[in-house]
Amino acid sequence: MNPFVYHANPSRVVFGMGTFAQLPAEIERLGCHRSLLLSTPHQVELARDAATLLGSAAAGIFDQAQMHVPAGVAAQASKAAKKIGADCLVATGGGSTIGLAKAIALESGLPVVAVPTTYAGSEMTPIYGITDQGRKRTGSDARVLPRTVIYDPELTLGLPVVISVTSGINAIAHAAEALYARDGNPIMETLAELGIRALARAIPAIRSDVEDRQARSDALYGAWLCGTTLGHVGMALHHKLCHTLGGTFNLPHAETHTIVLPHALAYNRKSTPRAMQILGRALASEDGPRALYELARDNGAPTALRDIGFQEADIAVAADIALTHPYWNPAPLAREALLALLQRAYRGEPPI
Ligand code: NAD
Repeated sequence: MNPFVYHANPSRVVFGMGTFAQLPAEIERLGCHRSLLLSTPHQVELARDAATLLGSAAAGIFDQAQMHVPAGVAAQASKAAKKIGADCLVATGGGSTIGLAKAIALESGLPVVAVPTTYAGSEMTPIYGITDQGRKRTGSDARVLPRTVIYDPELTLGLPVVISVTSGINAIAHAAEALYARDGNPIMETLAELGIRALARAIPAIRSDVEDRQARSDALYGAWLCGTTLGHVGMALHHKLCHTLGGTFNLPHAETHTIVLPHALAYNRKSTPRAMQILGRALASEDGPRALYELARDNGAPTALRDIGFQEADIAVAADIALTHPYWNPAPLAREALLALLQRAYRGEPPI
């Protein structure tokens, strides 16, 4: 076994159907009495439900969370938290809402309770991102790591099929890159394999029946495990490409991950035999990258960057940005090979 260093981020996880009802007890456990509830405009009903549950411990709702946490929105939300004297932030929603809670926590140190309703995984990481004048500033800070995470699969029953599939593959992306992380360790490797297996099983079942409670439970469980790996080990080429494509070309987050993942993994295939073996085992396939391509294609997710608004003329720009401040990657980064990767992803071809 290779030498490794292992550390664990502190967090409390409450998992199960109906656990949203435990929100008041979890807030009390943190010694908090005035929560600011956060959501996107689309999910304000969920924030209202949280307020009803909390009664007098709900001090206000801020329902303007947006993708990529615009600095102006974060400033408004911080102001709202100060104005009502909030002592706790409750994020009900996906990565965008949890990202907003993190931005407020970064400034105020307020504890965050996350109630995730997608599979993106932000709730398990100390990573934050704030976008100002078209540039996303990211960083890691222990203050933004949610103290408590309530995973209630019932809240995901309404997540539309295509978002469920792309969000699930977004989660798999974290675990797949964790399998070959430079700072990887056996615990994260185990969680990654279990997480990928749970999501790969759940995704087709959710496609068949969006309200399949067992599949929803499996998917959220998988998302927890995959999100945990994202919070503990470094990511590589795949995440760098997706941040470049999302940040510079404003491509949708989960769809971009879904399209790029098979190609980024195929790029690293020869340099990561052990990771490929585990990935294949989790996906019940000899060819993990291909199996992920088929998982997306067969379940109605996009497989081509050209179908989500990316222009062919931007392929070279994207490759150059990805090469400018590269993340560590198991295979050497070569411009021609990256261009070929992006061209295949652009056209929606299977990974080589
Ligand atoms: P999202 O939070 O933007 O949600 C997408 C849309 O789906 C929103 O309109 C939302 O209101 C809606 N939605 C969410 N849950 C729903 C449900 N159960 N039913 C119906 N509608 C629902 O999307 P996301 O993919 O969860 O998050 C993407 C963002 O999270 C990106 O900005 C990404 O950078 C960030 N992210 C951060 C980390 C991290 O560690 N910091 C990790 C993963 C993602």
